[in-house]
Amino acid sequence: MMDSSGRTAVPSIKRLDEAVVNRIAAGEVIQRPASALKELLENSLDAGATSISVVVKEGGLKLIQISDNGHGISYEDLPILCERHTTSKINSYEDLQTITTLGFRGEALASMTFVAHLTVITMTEGQIHGYRVSYKDGAMEGEPRPCAAIKGTQIMVENLFYNVIARKKAFKNPSEEYSRILDVISRYAIQKIGVSFSCKKHGDSRTDIHTDSTSSRTDAIRAVYGPGVARELVSVTASDDDPSHSIFKMDGYISSANYSAKKTTMVLFINDRLVECSSLKKAIEVVYAAILPKASKPFLYISIAMPPEHVDINIHPTKREVSFLNQESLIDSIQKAIEAKLMQSNTTRTFYTQTLLSRSLGVPDEAEESMPVQTQGGRNLKAPVNKLVRTDPSNPAGRMLAFMQKSLAGHVGSGNGLVDTKPVEMPMEDTRKIMDLTKNEEFAAEVQEDQTGLNALNGAHLQNNKVHKIAQMDASSLAGREALEHNISQANEDSRNELTTTRRLVRQRRNLKERAELTSIQELLATIDQETHSGLEDIVKHCTFIGMADERLCFVQHKTYLYLLDIVKLSKELLYQQVLRRFGHFNVIQLSNAASLYELLVIALDEEEQSGRWHESDGPKDQIAQLNVELLMCKAQMLQEYFNLSIDESANLCTLPLILDQYTPDMDRLPQFVLNLGNNVDWETEKECFDSVAAAIGEFYAIHPPLFPRPSVTSSEVYQPAKAAEISQVPRRLETDVNSEPVQESVPQSGADEPEVEDEFRLEAENAWAQREWTIQHVLFPAMKLFLKPPHHLANNGAAIQVARLENLYKIFERC
Ligand code: ADP
Ligand code: MG
Repeated sequence: MMDSSGRTAVPSIKRLDEAVVNRIAAGEVIQRPASALKELLENSLDAGATSISVVVKEGGLKLIQISDNGHGISYEDLPILCERHTTSKINSYEDLQTITTLGFRGEALASMTFVAHLTVITMTEGQIHGYRVSYKDGAMEGEPRPCAAIKGTQIMVENLFYNVIARKKAFKNPSEEYSRILDVISRYAIQKIGVSFSCKKHGDSRTDIHTDSTSSRTDAIRAVYGPGVARELVSVTASDDDPSHSIFKMDGYISSANYSAKKTTMVLFINDRLVECSSLKKAIEVVYAAILPKASKPFLYISIAMPPEHVDINIHPTKREVSFLNQESLIDSIQKAIEAKLMQSNTTRTFYTQTLLSRSLGVPDEAEESMPVQTQGGRNLKAPVNKLVRTDPSNPAGRMLAFMQKSLAGHVGSGNGLVDTKPVEMPMEDTRKIMDLTKNEEFAAEVQEDQTGLNALNGAHLQNNKVHKIAQMDASSLAGREALEHNISQANEDSRNELTTTRRLVRQRRNLKERAELTSIQELLATIDQETHSGLEDIVKHCTFIGMADERLCFVQHKTYLYLLDIVKLSKELLYQQVLRRFGHFNVIQLSNAASLYELLVIALDEEEQSGRWHESDGPKDQIAQLNVELLMCKAQMLQEYFNLSIDESANLCTLPLILDQYTPDMDRLPQFVLNLGNNVDWETEKECFDSVAAAIGEFYAIHPPLFPRPSVTSSEVYQPAKAAEISQVPRRLETDVNSEPVQESVPQSGADEPEVEDEFRLEAENAWAQREWTIQHVLFPAMKLFLKPPHHLANNGAAIQVARLENLYKIFERC
């Protein structure tokens, strides 16, 4: 602004009109219909109501009406009821320290009168009639008029934002606003179980929420969030009374690994106040990320009590957020408690399957007519309740197979050994645990996921015997043919007598619980605990992934330090440990084409030869392969029972254990794995046997660098047409299965096709590398944080190297 003399005019300061001030302030407290409702609801609760009912018109923009049976408002207070900063809840600022009511600012009702029409009907105990009065801009419109009433208060808020056109226009979708209102009521309904809540749309006879005041917390969750959630709840508690960390008590209900939703629902109360805390939510989501399928989220109800003086409730006008002391330590304890709980419940993960098994259960055949047909869109498909059963988690593999045979018939070929067609026995008692039909969709999602796994394996390369691999196998064990033969004759004898140690165990310990209690497994797990290097554990648990440094090492930050972690070593250890923890409880990866053990072994031996680890003096490769096949066939039942490595009667490998959700190992390493099982497993004693099978699986599943060179690094070499000869050395994922004829020339050596081949390779290699990095960040790290107990030897063999300290780096940058 310029005045006539050309100077900039200084704007003068004026006192704003009070009505303007109030309207501005009102906008802060009453941001939308749901925030008005929250304030009204809290007032009713503060008034000691045990019954609260809400009626809403047009998402609350036209009308929010709330009726309670609380103590009411006395006639004398009515004139100042809706003035700003009038409250019956505190007298002095210090009262905030010991406050037990939800409200204290004396602003809510006042704010509403500046942006809506507000009417109150109220009656206190012992009166013969109530009063009705309307308010506008903080003041009564006329005197209160006597009216018929019952004890309690009814407040009507009409035409919200009638005078704030811009705000009103922002709420285009009343049903979205209505669902926000329902959300607020739902949350309070599960916190305040002594209070009955109901909510409906104006004119509807049906309520959208209805809870009884006598409900238990799980009943309330069921009533509000549905049986699908309630069924999968586990209770969780945590507490701390050490003033140097944090003082709190937490209890809640969280969904188990069997439940998943698109969005996290976290109902959080701190000292009875409905609040949000994004850091706590994120910390818990990290825990679930390791056990739930990708993009699936949990349900969480958490109630925390802490000394009132540790919480600052006055940091947000709508009291939506609070701040409290020792937030980090508290979040950490809660995260740990949830982790522990989920680890316990993770082994009881259930699968939902249609009863293709009905015959073996004696369910009448005609019931099959109404069986749900799982289609891609699989929604709204209803099935009779007796068709959905919780299956025995001791053999999820069989359950999935049974299901897939029916429902995936369209996707998976049949009659070629792709799926097992044997009906699966199911213990009768399991059928009693009848599942709710609403699970159908989740089930479809699970199957979908499994299908993805299958597709991933479809392209599994098993044939290219020109592959160069880094075999970790002990060369001498290959040479020790005699030892192998001894092993086999021993095994044959054992199998004749049906008395090998492990097979005997299999028979004796079919019971799932007993199996988990096998002392050898307990001992191996105890060793893991004893040998944990706490420093490295802390780094892994609390680090932030930064990115890959090269094909093995990645950068992470822990506190102010920068580390390089060896992904191969850590992932190998993690997978080894997980095999022991999930022992006997694996879900399965189904090989789309059962792979002949013999052919796998021949491929592996050819690779050994190429890398100079096999010599003719070791004996003919086909014989070694044959002996190994026989050995593995002897051990097939045990491998199936405990590790879900199933081998069919024709010596084909059919399934692998699923150890980390969303992770399948690199199938190019399958031949080496089978050879490893044959050569490096100690079959003699139970403990060593389990340990060495777990180690072989860990070796196979570890996140090795892809066998394809990285295109961006090697673009000028391998992926150039001029180097086509080298390309033929590069492993390819072939579309064919192991039983088909070997592909003689997978790569043309010359001609016009070359650039295409180059592109195809480059693309495939790029995908493999990108996929690996994603897996490291989103699958490996969350799982390591949750489960890995790094042993001492990892801390000393270069699995973690400290490379920089950030303070020092800052110092350097400061000088620049
Ligand atoms: P605050 O809740 O912060 O005190 P409000 O503006 O929400 O401020 O309410 C002002 C006062 O009105 C409250 O302190 C309470 O005394 C009274 N009041 C509001 N709603 C009710 C109700 N449903 N029942 C009884 N008293 C109420
Ligand atoms: Mg209030």
